[in-house]
Amino acid sequence: MSRVAVVGAGTMGNGIAHVFAQHGWETMLVDVSAEQLDRAMKTIDANLERQVKKGTLATDQKDATLGRIRIDTKLDGAGQAELVVEAASENPEIKFAIFRALDAAAPPGAILATNTSSISITTIAAQTKRAAQVIGMHFMNPVPVMQLVEVIRGVETSDPTAARTVAIAKALGKTPVEVHDSPGFVSNRVLLPMINEAAFCVMEGVATPEAVDTVMKLGMNHPLGPLALADLIGLDVCLAILEVLHRDLGDDKYRPCPLLRKLVAAGRLGRKSGRGFHEYRG
Ligand code: NAD
Repeated sequence: MSRVAVVGAGTMGNGIAHVFAQHGWETMLVDVSAEQLDRAMKTIDANLERQVKKGTLATDQKDATLGRIRIDTKLDGAGQAELVVEAASENPEIKFAIFRALDAAAPPGAILATNTSSISITTIAAQTKRAAQVIGMHFMNPVPVMQLVEVIRGVETSDPTAARTVAIAKALGKTPVEVHDSPGFVSNRVLLPMINEAAFCVMEGVATPEAVDTVMKLGMNHPLGPLALADLIGLDVCLAILEVLHRDLGDDKYRPCPLLRKLVAAGRLGRKSGRGFHEYRG
């Protein structure tokens, strides 16, 4: 039986746990917040139920999936995992501390993967004594639906670690794409400047959020406008990624839009708080 530990039970962690458990992995979901774990289990249950209603999952498969997920507020469960996927808050100090703890807790052969959107894989790996077994495994939101997994090698990541991570992503029904470690990798280096520019358009009064999103949906055939997508990602996560791009690439073209900063300061984080560029109440 394959065992995975998923660290962080927020927007991404619950989706990652859902997908591993659905594909037969014994899954330990860890978060510092018992309330977040409770919310994550409710979200997973609701998302599995949606699959049952759509006819893509049988009820007994749903029950079996839920039965494979355990929750914990401590990292002890990582002690039996062959793979750990860290999906905690996008904050370097939090991730560094988690990786130091995981290096001590996880079996020597375990791969330690991070779902970070922008933080250097090489720097995260350097917190451990097993840099060859540290890799980026960047799932997209919503995880059960989205096809891509960006697989990011740090400087020290070994070929067997990369090969195993690619194989696991494929076994989960995903399409892995390998890229090298660089701020924002490919996905967020290309996506976030567009979201940022959309925020500048609103701040400068060029158009309303609704108008910006409609232009990009109908004009560019995007399934979701950039500001609705930002709300889905979480405005705090978007800001954190832009700050990494700005600082680490050293180019002012990545300067976070002041309106984005203001919304985050006000606690308007997007869907998860009920309000971002758009309203989600009710
Ligand atoms: P989130 O804010 O929804 O959830 C983060 C969770 O981490 C919270 O539940 C928090 O309690 C928990 N946490 C904080 N410190 C912890 C610790 N020391 N140990 C265990 N848990 C801890 O964030 P998210 O949107 O799920 O993002 C998680 C990671 O995934 C980030 O690195 C983010 O950049 C990345 N990511 C996010 C998206 C997205 O669309 N939101 C997409 C791809 C990747």
